[in-house]
Amino acid sequence: MSKKPSMEEIVSLAKRRGFIYPGSDIYGGLSGTYDFGPLGVALKQNVKNLWWRMFVSDREDMYGIDAAILMNPKAWEASGHVAGFSDPMVECTNCKARLRADHVEDKNVCPSCGKKGTLGEARQFNMMFSTQVGASEDASARTYLRPETAGGMFVNFKNVIDSFHPKLPFGLAQVGKAFRNEIAPRDFVFRAREFEQMEVEYFVHPERWEAAFEEWHGIMHAFAKAVGIRKEEIHDLEVAPEDRAHYSKRTIDFEFDYPFGRKELWGLAYRTDFDLSAHEATSGVELKYLDEEAKEKVTPHVIEPSLGVERTILAILLSAYDEDELGGEARSVLRLPAVIAPYEVAVFPLLKNKPELVAKAREVFRTLKVAGIRAIFDDNGNIGKRYRRQDEIGTPACVTIDFDTLGEKPELLDTVTLRNRDTGDQQRVNIADLVTALRS
Ligand code: ATP
Repeated sequence: MSKKPSMEEIVSLAKRRGFIYPGSDIYGGLSGTYDFGPLGVALKQNVKNLWWRMFVSDREDMYGIDAAILMNPKAWEASGHVAGFSDPMVECTNCKARLRADHVEDKNVCPSCGKKGTLGEARQFNMMFSTQVGASEDASARTYLRPETAGGMFVNFKNVIDSFHPKLPFGLAQVGKAFRNEIAPRDFVFRAREFEQMEVEYFVHPERWEAAFEEWHGIMHAFAKAVGIRKEEIHDLEVAPEDRAHYSKRTIDFEFDYPFGRKELWGLAYRTDFDLSAHEATSGVELKYLDEEAKEKVTPHVIEPSLGVERTILAILLSAYDEDELGGEARSVLRLPAVIAPYEVAVFPLLKNKPELVAKAREVFRTLKVAGIRAIFDDNGNIGKRYRRQDEIGTPACVTIDFDTLGEKPELLDTVTLRNRDTGDQQRVNIADLVTALRS
């Protein structure tokens, strides 16, 4: 059983080891923005690659796209975002804090300054960032940074049908940035103003949406398992009709037990034909599917698994965090699955100042890299320190090249020590068998 970390422990480890930094750090930050450091980028890339494999490339009915972040503003009018993508906001007349009305427990007391009776009436605040396209500054040039990636897929529905003639059901998938001018960004990367989404819009015959909903529900749980999010920390919440988004007829929120409470990690929504019908009505372009066999035209219905990248990374770090003792010293360790860990293996020469050890370790390191293994070379400090460093960033295996590798004991020539992060077990492995041992 792993230790449940506090947010402070995760935020501090993320910064110290180069996973996630506050955005614009040297200028005192910019609220709701974060910068991913070298290890964060590697982790994020591996998570996105695994998602792409499980949701797109392992299937025959999925088509990837990468749509522009800036879209014709009519698309956001059609989708209902211009009119309705808002949260209720209250302002304190004393300290001027702007707060999410539904996050304020006692409407009589400002949670920011503690004064009574200073909170005004709630009003709707649209969370889309608007911007100007081109040099003109009149209203016709205004558009928005997309608040979700979904829109880019609906406007490409017809393009993909015309290019590929897919059979229903089929889906489009996209990974990319989304922007929301959150009233109160908080809880580290959980609620940011700029983040990434991994989304699928899966088009089905209107009468067959339920089976597709169940299928994607299963895939999302399989993905949670694959990235190491612990089963007991993830919960399905059947969202009540009055709490669902305007377009949805069924939604399951995947909730996670964060240190600040049980909150949404991902969403799975049945969006009916809301989007295709709305874009058809607004654009004047027919967005239907012609079933050649049944000779019928239908507006497909949509199942949407929507996963935030940053919330996934946060849940992964929280689930993977552990503390134990190594040689009498406490250490923190990330028990990341090898498939998403920034590095799969670290390679060490036993001693830094013995050229023959270093040369052999470099040779092993290169062999692993050529085999496509994510390896890091480390010769800094003693072996115990190097183990601790790798444990803390989640590297599942370490390989040490010592004098026996060079043949000091002839029977051990060309063997190395392979050490397991989670068990601490060390075994002697032939260099020729290393790739297989690491991938097994
Ligand atoms: P919440 O209710 O927490 O604001 P939401 O229901 O508005 O979230 P969706 O519109 O369903 O979120 O967005 C899909 C996914 O995008 C979410 O499940 C989450 O993983 C991610 N996401 C949404 N807003 C943010 C944000 N401000 N920061 C980071 N990730 C986000």
